[in-house]
Amino acid sequence: MPQKIVAGNWKMNLCLDEGVDLIRSIEASSLPSDVKVMVFPPALFVDAAKKTSSSKCLVGVQNFNAAEKGAFTGEVSIKQVKSAGASIGLIGHSERRELFNETNAILKDKVDAAIENNFQFIFCCGEPLEVREAGTEIEFVRNQLEESLFHLASDQMRDGIIAYEPIWAIGTGRTASSEQAEDMHREIRAMLSEKYTNDIAESISILYGGSCKSANAKELFACPNVNGGLIGGAALDATSFCAIIDSF
Ligand code: PEP
Repeated sequence: MPQKIVAGNWKMNLCLDEGVDLIRSIEASSLPSDVKVMVFPPALFVDAAKKTSSSKCLVGVQNFNAAEKGAFTGEVSIKQVKSAGASIGLIGHSERRELFNETNAILKDKVDAAIENNFQFIFCCGEPLEVREAGTEIEFVRNQLEESLFHLASDQMRDGIIAYEPIWAIGTGRTASSEQAEDMHREIRAMLSEKYTNDIAESISILYGGSCKSANAKELFACPNVNGGLIGGAALDATSFCAIIDSF
């Protein structure tokens, strides 16, 4: 069975004291013990986030550079974020793809860097609205996975996590229906099974992201192939984030 996961992507929100308070509130809540909770603060706050959290709440980064070190002003390497306490990173969030021109080739390098550094990742994929309207979303997502992720060998893929985030649902208040989410998640699992083995496909967590909140999380998480959520806006408040975790 895939691990149930609820991950909060803070994006460029919250200041240090607000982030620490949020983690303290999450830590103080009684949450289902079979759900892995993750927070993705700005890299600057990873050290404080790690010091505030127990094993209940895993700390990750929203981004990292694939290079080991060097003259990359403003960037952070995996070794650096690991040394500050991060144990997982997002790769390929649509905002990184769209606003920072991260191509499938760049994301492939990040996947490779994560593997080399024994750094867990959540690989994000998802189609823009025009692709959904053209009815080619499955091919679009397949291409993202094939160009950035599916070069990994089976043993490298085993600990990977995938987040399906239709771009038209991110931050828009327009959630994919549970049928739309389940359809794509089933397709992604079938792609994993075709590329790797049934065993691997059945063990990888596939998260849904895109305007997921406490009001719709229960229905989304009830889908057989939805193993949790990558949450943006609703992860900034402890009450709503914990309510989402409780939806399992
Ligand atoms: C996200 O950025 O990954 C996300 C899902 O955002 P939101 O929940 O705000 O749509």
